Amino acid sequence: LGRKINTALHELTKAPVIDEKVLDAILKEICGALLMADVNIKLVGRLRENVKKAVNINDIGGGVNKKRIIEKAVMDELFDLVDAHTDVYKPTKRKSSIFLMVGLQGAGKTTTCTKLASYYQRKGWKTALVCADTFRAGAFDQLKQNATKAKIPYYGSYTEADPVAIALEGVEKFKADKFEIIIVDTSGRHKQEAELFEEMKQISAAVQPDSTIFVMDGTIGQAAESQAKAFKEAADFGSIIMTKMDGHAKGGGAISAVAATQSPIVFIGTGEHLHDLERFEPKPFIRKMLGMGDMRELVEKVQDMGLGQNKNLMENIKQGQYSLRDMYEQFQQISKMGPLSKLMGAIPGMPADLMAGSEEEGSKRIKRMMCIMDSMNDKELDSDAKIFLENRTRIVRVARGSGTSVHEVEEILNQYQKFAEMVKTMGGKQGLLANMPTDP
Ligand code: GDP
Ligand code: MG
Repeated sequence: LGRKINTALHELTKAPVIDEKVLDAILKEICGALLMADVNIKLVGRLRENVKKAVNINDIGGGVNKKRIIEKAVMDELFDLVDAHTDVYKPTKRKSSIFLMVGLQGAGKTTTCTKLASYYQRKGWKTALVCADTFRAGAFDQLKQNATKAKIPYYGSYTEADPVAIALEGVEKFKADKFEIIIVDTSGRHKQEAELFEEMKQISAAVQPDSTIFVMDGTIGQAAESQAKAFKEAADFGSIIMTKMDGHAKGGGAISAVAATQSPIVFIGTGEHLHDLERFEPKPFIRKMLGMGDMRELVEKVQDMGLGQNKNLMENIKQGQYSLRDMYEQFQQISKMGPLSKLMGAIPGMPADLMAGSEEEGSKRIKRMMCIMDSMNDKELDSDAKIFLENRTRIVRVARGSGTSVHEVEEILNQYQKFAEMVKTMGGKQGLLANMPTDP
């Protein structure tokens, strides 16, 4: 998707005259890409109309100005779609706030409950968990295990079959103990949808939540709209947490859910572990969805890593210049730092397959690439890899020198090419992000 939209917006810089026809062609490209990302078809139609309205092609000046206006209109529309324009419930210290988690079985409620509790606990809130899932055998054990690991007090029962009774007991107990954040997990499964919604309503009526949070699987694509709507009507949630945004979720579901319910996404789940919960921010989210990564996030992380001290590299990236050596130096810094995958995710253009598999496999792969690059000479490292293609004996030499294969060396050159292309799009003067602030 990112590449497509970038290409479409790039067309803008090439077209000598931007008229209605060029605008239409570009919008067609962009809308096609959005549909591919599972954005709801009606929303895509609306975006097209709004951009056309925002950009009155005959009224605006020529050249660069026109291009900027179109780019901005597209981005603004996308940002607007994931922004619910409503406030999110904020808990108050020294008071009990009750969070009720709803959503279908398998969406990630139980996992998210603990993540959320841990998030608040780390910020100094007194938090607790209540398991009101009596439907699934083992539900209480799962919550108990997670909670124990995260050192969060919990409440549940192996014998009580009534979820409403347990929810109420748990909430009352923790309220009496002056807990500040009490999170109630529910089952999300029933033989009949009507029964599920009825159970949710009863639990809600019993515990009187301050905030009902809809937990939605981020990978469900076009089904997001109807599912979010159904839960909104039945449970009237105030906010959304989208899970499984680490895998191949295309992001379009998030846009649909917000637009269908006018409820904000507050967090996204980005993995199965306790710390894999991130605050949702519309702008970085959209930029990431467009494959552009978040420049600000990237710069921040790079600086955190001490990479920022490498002035040359940052300058090169900003200028859209990027050599094999730059990639090598990045690998070098990155491999010194812990958890790689998160970091790599923030680097635009970093191919997903590079970090496929476990953390360890990813690090190994990077080490191996660096090992191969150690057999390149200075001239090669400082190049943009073209000299390898001009003279393939260089590839053979590097393969031999590093005890690897021609194929593996070519793989690295491929990776480099992809990465360099993205760096150029991001950082180059013509890049879409040229005007975006990069200072954290
Ligand atoms: P529930 O039925 O709604 O309570 O869902 P669970 O919390 O039991 O989660 C269902 C599955 O999704 C489990 O295997 C979780 O590990 C997994 N899961 C939950 N959140 C995420 C996430 O953000 N990313 C990934 N990759 N997996 C998740
Ligand atoms: Mg569960």
